[in-house]
Amino acid sequence: MRILLVEDDPLLGDGLAAGLRQSGFAVDWLKDGESADVALKTEPFDLLVLDLGLPRLAGMEVLKKLRGRGNAMPVLILTARDATADKVAGLDSGADDYLVKPIDLDELAARARALARRSAGRAVPLIEHGSLSVDPAAHKVMVDGAAVDLSTREFAILEALLDNAGRVLTRAQLETHVYGWTAEPDSNAVEVHIHHLRRKLGGNLIKTLRGVGYMIDKLS
Ligand code: CA
Repeated sequence: MRILLVEDDPLLGDGLAAGLRQSGFAVDWLKDGESADVALKTEPFDLLVLDLGLPRLAGMEVLKKLRGRGNAMPVLILTARDATADKVAGLDSGADDYLVKPIDLDELAARARALARRSAGRAVPLIEHGSLSVDPAAHKVMVDGAAVDLSTREFAILEALLDNAGRVLTRAQLETHVYGWTAEPDSNAVEVHIHHLRRKLGGNLIKTLRGVGYMIDKLS
């Protein structure tokens, strides 16, 4: 799952980005509203974590422009302590949730998972797909009730494919889901992870569409 974090405070941003990566998210971090606005127009993210007090373009304006374009991606805003007016204005402008600084990293990760779950149309925290059961919070995968050990990267690829079941994801899309912009993945890294996933989960789950990408079928 890929998160765009927009926070101008270098210490706080660094801590949040590191904490979210630790929790298995791909994180891209920008430090001003204008850059965020540009990135949101061109890049697909699963969640926006948005500070409101930002240079160049205020967080509230970034949010209003996003919703003005009809983009319904989940947005969590970060507000200063006791800024009740900010929370109300943010929620009224289309934010889905907020956290008050100082930010608790475990709470941020849990809320990020909850928002992603809801935007993927799941009410329950487990992703079920045939004999496969995935718990995004615990990073646990079971096949026919037996636990399967996946690496962080393998887990992120599986989660992206399950969240987009029935749709083809290109290798480039999977790379940004797993790495964000920050790390330069090996050119064949995605193929290697897919190979391992097939070995661990069975060869029929992930389909290759030659020259296009990868897909997991949508089950009715
Ligand atoms: Ca700020």
